[in-house]
Amino acid sequence: MHILVPSPNKPSTDTGRPKSLCYLQASEAKQRGEITESEYFHHLFAHCTWAGEEHEDDEKCLVNGINWALLDADPLAYLICCWAQRMDPVDDATPFEDVFKAYRNGGVAEVEAALNALSKPDHVREFRRMLAMLALQERRADVLKMCSDAGGFSYDSYFQDEANRLDPNKDPETDKVLEESDFRKIYPRKRWIPWEERGAKKKKEEERDSGEKSDGEDEDNDDWEFDIAAFDEGGEFEINW
Ligand SMILES: [Zn+2]
Repeated sequence: MHILVPSPNKPSTDTGRPKSLCYLQASEAKQRGEITESEYFHHLFAHCTWAGEEHEDDEKCLVNGINWALLDADPLAYLICCWAQRMDPVDDATPFEDVFKAYRNGGVAEVEAALNALSKPDHVREFRRMLAMLALQERRADVLKMCSDAGGFSYDSYFQDEANRLDPNKDPETDKVLEESDFRKIYPRKRWIPWEERGAKKKKEEERDSGEKSDGEDEDNDDWEFDIAAFDEGGEFEINW
């Protein structure tokens, strides 16, 4: 007699649970108030598990396929996306989600406890990088200081960007943390330029390099203050894209 056994790989939609969301979808759903922040992180870190579903956009975070839309909309999700591409998947992403629960609901001590619960030192460094990004975005000086004091991670160009957006008069505490950290020793303040504009600039450079520029176009508009080489800046630490 043949017995029907449910497939362990049954699509989540068949079980009545919400379908997994990709990075930008999760970010937008959170923005619209359709999912909570906990659910947002659950969708993001599901990408770091063996059981996580794959999406069409996942590979956009690879080095040669920068997902400009995600980077512009949500640098933290972009950071997690890049990490998910290169880390070894885990069985359970709950400890990852717990770090951000601790950030939201606790103080520095709770965040440190959640970081200490992570199993690998390189995961701890990555989460400090992520937390530094979020703390900077939210102008949360205590957590930013905790992360920058511990160090061990590079400051990506989008961190640099967010730092350049910060108004010292409006957020003096966060600015003080930045000024006293190694960050400002490596990265002097620059004018902030939208990512989409940078994508257009990079595309133009690529067209120029491949000899595809059209006649009559402004070829040497070099008054851009940003430098695409910012992607190579990482101080003593490697930047992983
Ligand atoms: Zn995805």
